[in-house]
Parts: sequence; structure tokens; C-alpha cells
Amino acid sequence: MELRNEIIKKQNKKSPLKKPYRNFPMVPKVVFGEGSFDQLGDILMLKRQSVDAPMIYLVDDVFKNSSLIDRIPLLFDDKIIFQCAEEEPKTEQVDALVSKIKEDFKELPSGVIGIGGGTMMDLAKAVAIMLKNKGTSAKYQGWDLVHKPAIYHVGIPTISGTGAEVSRTTVLMGPTKKLGINSDYTVFDQVVLDPDLLQGVPKEKWFFTGMDCFIHCIESLNGTYLNAFSQSYGEKALELCKEVFLGDLSKSDARAKLMMASWHGGMSIAYSQVGIAHALSYGLSYLLGIRHGLANCLVFQHLGDFYPEGVRLFNEILSKNQIELPQGICKDLTDEQFNTMIEVSLKMTPLWENALGKNWESHITPEIIRAIFNKI
Ligand code: NAD
Ligand code: ZN
Repeated sequence: MELRNEIIKKQNKKSPLKKPYRNFPMVPKVVFGEGSFDQLGDILMLKRQSVDAPMIYLVDDVFKNSSLIDRIPLLFDDKIIFQCAEEEPKTEQVDALVSKIKEDFKELPSGVIGIGGGTMMDLAKAVAIMLKNKGTSAKYQGWDLVHKPAIYHVGIPTISGTGAEVSRTTVLMGPTKKLGINSDYTVFDQVVLDPDLLQGVPKEKWFFTGMDCFIHCIESLNGTYLNAFSQSYGEKALELCKEVFLGDLSKSDARAKLMMASWHGGMSIAYSQVGIAHALSYGLSYLLGIRHGLANCLVFQHLGDFYPEGVRLFNEILSKNQIELPQGICKDLTDEQFNTMIEVSLKMTPLWENALGKNWESHITPEIIRAIFNKI
């Protein structure tokens, strides 16, 4: 112990560390291109542990009976498990999947592959972690609570915007909170970016998940945590979002560009943070189960005092894409319900700090938050 202290002291004398810079993991392998999904068989072949250790595919049930299912490279005991993405993933859902997989197979799987949007990708990340870590997944909601590496896991987005394909978190609704399992082991080992898989996403879902990316960019680029790393990714992602939502791209260009916007937006917040729209949107989703992309939009439209240029752009995007946001969502809520949303939102300290700086608490009161929720 003494030696360690001595070494640290010496090092600090030589080159005093200004701050502990983050050393965060990135997705080590990614394939991009139309039709690249068909390379999955070759990619997985190298990762198969034995004939008794299957690949588990967690697939959005929107693809049941679609031709995509026939293209999944099933071998030996591999299994496709369909899951519904109409609700955000829950800790109990993760725990049930893990128990079932352990029950059904002699050996741990060789890998878990999530095929779908943020919901399926987050489920795959969480299941891969929990196959190797004991207890309930709710125990690991928070920062760096996972101690054993996950099993090999692959993310294959079929709708773009959340950045879940690059992030080091898996956002879960738990018994007491909506919070991610944030850890170095959460990050995918492999991502397959095939823009063709985005074909068939309905217009509103395309829009709201895409706007998650737009809002990531605005919150990252206007945050106090901004640095050259996050700025470079954020600027590129914002430029791509503008092309997709304000330009006149062909459908296939729009798919490829939104996929890359999502990736860059995710990289941008990885080294900074999101902000006020996300803090409040967590409150809305927690209480009312409103989906992440829509919840962000519902809040963001009223944040002109905080992100004036972003909100101006957002309004332009809404009108160009002929999207009307639902209204009156909060009109019948009780004081108790408002307080729950306010409480959940105020717990998101890093998000507020990124948005408003260290003294954020002297700028934000429950009344200010209530006034924003009242408008939704
Ligand atoms: P999603 O996975 O929830 O799917 C949205 C809808 O689109 C679903 O109805 C789904 O069935 C449908 N869909 C998906 N692909 C389709 C396709 N190709 N064709 C037709 N329909 C399709 O969408 P999302 O917005 O990507 O994910 C939201 C989730 O992601 C939330 O649970 C949120 O908490 C989470 N999230 C995670 C992170 C992270 O870093 N881990 C970041 C942001 C959000
Ligand atoms: Zn988001």
C-alpha cells in the first residue's frame, strides 16, 4: 500500500494529473453496408464455443414471419427468442430470459445477438451480462457495478437513433427506477450496421427514434462537459440529422445516414452527457410509460429557454416532416404524480450538471420543472 502511495506521489510530482480522464471502451468490431446482415454466419462461426453452446437471438417480434428470420444463421441448438418492443425493457424480463436460457441449455451460450431497436439491443446487452453475473439485474442498475465480463454479444439495429449500438449502458425499467446498467462490459463485442434492415420502419417511429439522436446532439453540443472528442462526433451527427430530416435524400441514403448519425450521436454522448430533455423525459417515461423518443420530443419542444437554436431547428423539422406531437398528456395528472416525475428527473444529476454547470441546483427548482410538465 505504501509503495503504491509512494508511486502515485512520485508520478504526481512528475506530471500532476489535472483530472482523471475517462478511459472508456468502444465497440471493437463493426461491419457496415447494405446486405451486411448476411455476413453474420461467418462472423459468429469464429465465436462458437461448442455444439452445446448455442447462439441466442433476441429478435423484435415485429419480424415474426418476415424474410429476415430465414436469413438468421441457425446452427446446432441455436435459438431465436422473440420479444415484444412495445414496452421498454424491464429488469424482471431480463431475469426471466436468463433463467430460461440457463434452464434450457447444458452450457452457457456462445453469444447473445440482439436484433431490433434500442429495446432489443438493451435486452441483449443485459442478458449477456446477467448470464455471467449473479443475482437480479436490478442490482446492477447504476455505474460500474458489474464485475464479471459478459458473454459475447452482438447488436444489430433495425431502427436508428438511440445510439444503443455504441453505448456502454443498457437502460432498464426496474422495480424502483429507470436506470442503465452502465459498465465497460455492457458494450457490444460486434455490431452489424445494415441500412436495409431499416426498411419498413413506420414513419412516426422512424421520426421519434431519429429525434432521440437529434436531441443527443443538441444536448451534447450545448453542454458544459463538451470537449473536442464529443464535439467532433456531435457535429457530424447533427449535420447528418439535418440532411436526413431537412434535406431531400433518397430513402436508401436517408437510412444509411441516419444509421451513421445514431452511431456518431452515441459516441458524442459517450464522452459527454445528455441534458435537460433527457432528465425530464426519464420522469415522463417512468410515470406514464411513454417511449423514449416521443418523451424526449414532448419535453424538448418546451426547452426554448435552454436550447433556443435547437428548439428552432426542431420546430422546422417537425413542420417539414408533418409531425404533430400529442397534446394534453399531463393535463389530468395529480400533484402526487407530478411530484414523482419531478423527483425522478431531479435525480439525474450528471445530466443537469452537463446542461447547467456545477451550480445547476441554484437555477432549477421543482416549480420550474412543474411548469414545463404542465405544458405537455
Ligand atoms: P424500439 O426498439 O423500442 O422499437 C420501436 C418500435 O419500432 C417498436 O414498435 C419496434 O417493434 C419497431 N421497429 C423496430 N425496427 C423495425 C423495423 N425495421 N420495421 C418495423 N418496425 C420496427 O426503438 P428505439 O427507439 O430504438 O429504442 C427505445 C429504447 O432504447 C428505450 O427502451 C430506451 O430506453 C432505449 N435507449 C437505450 C439507449 C442506450 O444507450 N442503451 C439510449 C437511448 C435509448
Ligand atoms: Zn436518448
